[in-house]
Amino acid sequence: MAKYVFVTGGVVSSVGKGVSVASIGKILKSRSVSVSAQKLDPYLNVDPGTMSPYQHGEVFVTQDGAETDLDLGHYERFIGVDLTQASNVTSGQVYSSVIAHERKGDFLGGTIQVVPHVTNEIKRRIRQVAEISGADVVIVEVGGTVGDIEGQPFLEAIRQMRKDEGRDNVLYIHVTFLPHIAATDELKTKPTQHSVNELRRIGIQPDVILCRSDNEIPEGVQDKISLFCDVDKEAVIPVVTGETIYEVPLLLEEYKLGDFIVNRFELKAKESNLGDWRDMVNKLKAPKESVTIGLVGKYVELRDAYYSVREALCHAALTHNREVKIEWLSSEEFQDGHDNNKLRQVQGIIVPGGFGHRGIEGMIEAAKFAREREIPYLGLCLGLQVMVIEFGRHAFHSQDVNSTEFSSDTAYPVIDFLPGQQGVKQKGGTMRLGTYPCHLVPRTKAARAYGCEIAYERHRHRLEFNNSFRQPLEEVGMIASGVSPDGELVEITELRNHPWMVSCQFHPEFRSRPDSPHPLFADFVGAAKETLIEGAQPSLPIS
Ligand code: GLN
Repeated sequence: MAKYVFVTGGVVSSVGKGVSVASIGKILKSRSVSVSAQKLDPYLNVDPGTMSPYQHGEVFVTQDGAETDLDLGHYERFIGVDLTQASNVTSGQVYSSVIAHERKGDFLGGTIQVVPHVTNEIKRRIRQVAEISGADVVIVEVGGTVGDIEGQPFLEAIRQMRKDEGRDNVLYIHVTFLPHIAATDELKTKPTQHSVNELRRIGIQPDVILCRSDNEIPEGVQDKISLFCDVDKEAVIPVVTGETIYEVPLLLEEYKLGDFIVNRFELKAKESNLGDWRDMVNKLKAPKESVTIGLVGKYVELRDAYYSVREALCHAALTHNREVKIEWLSSEEFQDGHDNNKLRQVQGIIVPGGFGHRGIEGMIEAAKFAREREIPYLGLCLGLQVMVIEFGRHAFHSQDVNSTEFSSDTAYPVIDFLPGQQGVKQKGGTMRLGTYPCHLVPRTKAARAYGCEIAYERHRHRLEFNNSFRQPLEEVGMIASGVSPDGELVEITELRNHPWMVSCQFHPEFRSRPDSPHPLFADFVGAAKETLIEGAQPSLPIS
C-alpha cells in the first residue's frame, strides 16, 4: 500500500515548493524507496496548454503527451522518473469529470457538492498515481498558497486522505517563507504561524515545516516555530537559498528528513546514497570557464517560460566542465535592421519553442547571423521552423518564404500544418503531443551526437517541414537528419556546410537530467565552447 506525502505552501508563492517536492523524492529514491509525484493545480483551466507563458511559465510535456505544470520538470529531473498525465490534476479536470458524470446521470437523485463529489474525484486522482506507478511513496504538491479560495477542495481532500488511508500512511509537509526585516536584522516567524493556523482550521496539522529563507536561520527561530506550530524541532527544517537548486536534496538529507520520513512510514529502506549527486553538485559549484549562449525568444522577460531549456543547457555545460552563461535576447530587438551587437557576444544561439508571429522576423535574423557567421545554432521546435524559413529565403532568393502559421499565402510555405491540423478550432490538447520515434540518418551530426539509430522524443506542435521543399532544400545543403519511421515527417534538420547548425521539431529539453544531459544539447555546447567571441581572437605574434 502506498504512503502519501502532501506538500502545501504558506505565506507566499514562488518559494520553491516544486523543488522541495522534487528534493524529497530524490532523498527517498536515494534510499531505494520507489517514488512518484503529482501536482494539484487549483486553477480552472483543464491544463496549462492554453495559457500564455507570461501567466504560467513553461508548459512541460510528459512522455504520454500531457501538457503540464513546469514543476513536473523538477520532479522528473531530480527523481529520474518519467511521469504521466495522471501527475498533474487541475480544478478544470476535476470539475469537468464530475459534471460529465452528472450529465450522464451517474449521481441520479443526488445533489452534487464539493464535499463529497469533488473531493472524491480529487482523491480518486491522487490514488490513481499510486496505482499507475506502483510507487512506495507518492508525493503530492498542492499548488498555490494555503488560504486561496480555489485551493480549499484540494486541502479538504488531502485532509480526508489521512482518515481514508490511515494516519501512519500520510504525512503533511508545509513549506513557508521567513521574511527578513532589514531594520532589525530579524527573521520573522509570524506569517508561518498564521499559515499553520490556517491549515489547522481546515484540520491539517503539519508534521514537518520547511522554512525557506534568503538568510541564515538562527536556531532560536527554529525553536520558536517548533513551539508555536507544535512540530518536533527536528522536523522544522531550514532551507536557506543556495547557489543551485540541485543542492536542496543534500540540505534536506543533512537535516535528516529522509530518516524522519522512512521512520514515520516504517519503510524498508537502504542507507542513503547521494554520493554521485553530491559530486555533481560540487562540480556545478566549482568555479570554471563559462560558455555564453544567446537564447533568442519572445518571452525572455519571464525566464520560467524556458525553464527546461535553461536546465538542459546547464546540464550540457557541466559535461564539458563549463558554466553556462545565458544571454536572454528578445527576438524583437533584431527585427527591422536593428543592430545585432548582442549576437556578436555569444558562442552559440538557441531559438526555443513558441507560438504566434510576434518576434519571428528577429528569430530569422538570429538564424541568418548563425548561418553566415558559422555560430553553433540549436533550434527547438519553432527554432527548427525558423531555421528552415531562413535557409529557404537564402536558397530561393526570396523574402516571401514563410510558415503558414505566420503567412497563409506565402509563395514558399516551407513550414505547413500537419495533416488535419489546419482546421482545428478547439485549442486545448489538440496539437501533436508526446513521444514519437525518430530515425537518425547515419553519418549526420545528429546521428553522431546521439550515437544510436533511433531516438524517442517529446513533441508539441501543429506545423511541420513541408515535404514539397525537401528536395530543393536538400540540393543546396540542408539535410533531413532525423525522420519519422515512415520517412514522412522531418524531425531533425541540419546544414551540411556549417560547423553546427542543427534543429529539431521536438523538445529535447524535457528529457535532459543533471546526471544525463541530452545528447543534442551536449553536442551543441561542445561546439559552442570552441567558438571564439568577436574580439576574443588571440592577436597574431609580431615577428
Ligand atoms: N508554433 C509552432 C507549431 O505549432 C511551434 C510550436 C513550438 O515551438 N512548440 O508548430
